[in-house]
Amino acid sequence: MTHPFLDLAPLTAAHFAAVEKRVAGLLATEQDVVIMQGEALLPLEGCIRGGARPGSTALNVVTGPYGQTFGNWLRDCGADVVDLSVPFHTAVTADQVARALAEHPEIDFVSLVHAEAATGNTNPVAEIGEVVRSHGALFMLDAVASVGAEPLLPDVWGVDLCVIGAQKAMGGPAGVSAVSVSERAWERIAANPQAPRRSYLSLLDWKERWIDGGRKALLHAPAQLEMLALEACVDRIETEGLEALMARHAAAAAATRAGAVALGGGLSPYVHQAAEAAPVATTLRAPEGVDAAGLVARALAADPSLPLIAGGGALSKEMIRVNHYGVDATRGAVQSSLAALGAALADAGRKVDLEAARKAVSEAWPSE
Ligand SMILES: *Cc1c(COP(=O)(O)O)cnc(C)c1O
Repeated sequence: MTHPFLDLAPLTAAHFAAVEKRVAGLLATEQDVVIMQGEALLPLEGCIRGGARPGSTALNVVTGPYGQTFGNWLRDCGADVVDLSVPFHTAVTADQVARALAEHPEIDFVSLVHAEAATGNTNPVAEIGEVVRSHGALFMLDAVASVGAEPLLPDVWGVDLCVIGAQKAMGGPAGVSAVSVSERAWERIAANPQAPRRSYLSLLDWKERWIDGGRKALLHAPAQLEMLALEACVDRIETEGLEALMARHAAAAAATRAGAVALGGGLSPYVHQAAEAAPVATTLRAPEGVDAAGLVARALAADPSLPLIAGGGALSKEMIRVNHYGVDATRGAVQSSLAALGAALADAGRKVDLEAARKAVSEAWPSE
């Protein structure tokens, strides 16, 4: 018996290369794009292990949990790490990055997360890129939570290593990811004796055996279902239009923010400035005395399909995440999420205004 997921013809090198080219189109990049056969943490770790080594000094910007992970990998590679941490309710500024670079002229690698779905902030990459460029350091960007949700222009912004995954705003599979690699980054990785080689983490393997070989022979059998899903995902984005997809995420974020404020009950946007709030997901601060994880559990008990989750780790007490991305970047998902949170707050004895929330969402997002 045939099955839709099974018995597929092998994915050819030409097919793989065609998908790669369309992903490069989404990033408007002229640089090499490598599609990695794993979730985005694979290229992120590959970039750090390729770029960092003993003797290098890295500026690691921490605006959420992913930045913390990068710092650990960088130290693991023997690099000296300068952590620039900002409170999770804000973004980092280009001035803060410039100051850190001025204090540590030896910095030769900068890692930054564009948008953090886990904390709900987004950082001004264009301005930061200018500062990093003039300093001369290699610039790595985690754009997993920004691609498809907000403008992402690695070439214009001087990003040397730009990592994306399809599982957030792109509405695609989680099992493959991609990274654009500048000429400078290739030189740097090739000159690093410690960079992974003949390894699943190796970007260089893809350069030497796939790209330099004219994209004729794959390194191993590709994750076929994931590649087909990625292709379908790019198809769907091209049909909707990248601009329309980003506009849908911006509207979802603005509507969630406005609706939460109108709802009341002590709920407030976690990220103080709207301009620093990520379009991919909106984080909310639970009212004083209300446990965020408990509130989310009550809301989900009413409707388990809502894109709600409590913050991770210590944040689970105070942070509510509305993951209005991909297929959930709709006015309906935003309305239902706020209605369910409102009902849960009312259960907890808080005074909420469901009608005001509904109206605020409709005003912030008049039509779809
Ligand atoms: C979602 C995300 C990733 C990928 O991590 P998963 O938890 O496996 O989805 C990486 N970086 C950022 C900034 C993300 O938001």
